[in-house]
Amino acid sequence: MTTNRGLYIHIPFCIRKCAYCDFFSVALDTELASRYIEEVCNELSLLMAAYPDTVIDTVYLGGGTPSVLPQSLLERLIAHIYKCAHVEIKEFSIEVNPCSSDKLSFYPSLGINRVSIGVQALQAGILKAIGRLHTPQEALDALSRAARLFPDVSADIMLGLPMQTVRDVEETLKHILPYVTHVSQYMLKLSESVPMGIAVKEKRMILPDDDLTADMYDAGSSIMQQYAFERYEISNFARNKRDCMHNLKYWNRQEYIGLGAAAHSFIKGVRYENPSDMNAYLNGEHLGNGLAGKTDISVKDALFEYIMLKLRLEEGFEVAEINHLFHIDFNEKYKEEIGALIELLDFNNGRIRIKKEKMLLESYVAKKFLK
Ligand code: SF4
Repeated sequence: MTTNRGLYIHIPFCIRKCAYCDFFSVALDTELASRYIEEVCNELSLLMAAYPDTVIDTVYLGGGTPSVLPQSLLERLIAHIYKCAHVEIKEFSIEVNPCSSDKLSFYPSLGINRVSIGVQALQAGILKAIGRLHTPQEALDALSRAARLFPDVSADIMLGLPMQTVRDVEETLKHILPYVTHVSQYMLKLSESVPMGIAVKEKRMILPDDDLTADMYDAGSSIMQQYAFERYEISNFARNKRDCMHNLKYWNRQEYIGLGAAAHSFIKGVRYENPSDMNAYLNGEHLGNGLAGKTDISVKDALFEYIMLKLRLEEGFEVAEINHLFHIDFNEKYKEEIGALIELLDFNNGRIRIKKEKMLLESYVAKKFLK
């Protein structure tokens, strides 16, 4: 019997660190990148031997900045995927930064059929303040080239940035929507240890407050609706149902294998996490028993994960499914919680979801089910 699994590969190289970013990444160094890709290939071989039932149906190259990888290294990596894994790939995505988008036209020949471009905003002052290296025009050029090359093009934008207004968000979306099939609209979340987090703490930088950021979210959602984009997850919108199949695996608790430093895996109900450290990764500390950083998930945790992840989705979840998977009577078990949240939840056709206009309260709602 085979199991479909997504494949995530973390490419932890960037030209320069953005001021808000706490993803694991280091400065690009071609020799280091070459050693890294070899280790990722080793890791893939090991995992395919450990889980021979795997059929890879989605691939996602994320980072970091996968688009800074030299062409030869990307070829080496993808050739290895096809060589050592059983693949039936329906979706193959790569994240692209506008300032390293020169290889876009090469990707389709490698089987890549979806690009996700980090636009963030189209106001030069905002891009500069958050430490992005590209201009608004470079982002638009990358989108327009991508639209001619790929069936699926996604753009990331961010809300709650310094100096950003509701109007800026609307303008940004109006310019990018003609080129894309998918948008991820994220609210800025700052760690206190990154340069922007420190600047905010020291009051050298002021960010829009939560109410204004929520207004940006609503304005962005409404513009996208006008352009026939439908929300399928709190931060994700797609036209013609071009939802990201790979990311849906995360919210649906389906299995995926993560390769590379800081990558996570979810296999047979167990979560794993590779070290967020280049030397530790290159020294093979992820190799342990086939996978490192193992966390067994108790049934109680799995139930909470299921509720929390599914409530992020516009479609919520089916009560019959959760009852079947966890051997519970959901309505009985959570009678009090459901009563307390009645104003925020929708019940329809045996499904429970958060009311459309209350989606931003998802983490508050989910926490109520933690017991
Ligand atoms: S390009 Fe992406 S991963 Fe790299 S520093 Fe900027 S936000 Fe972080």
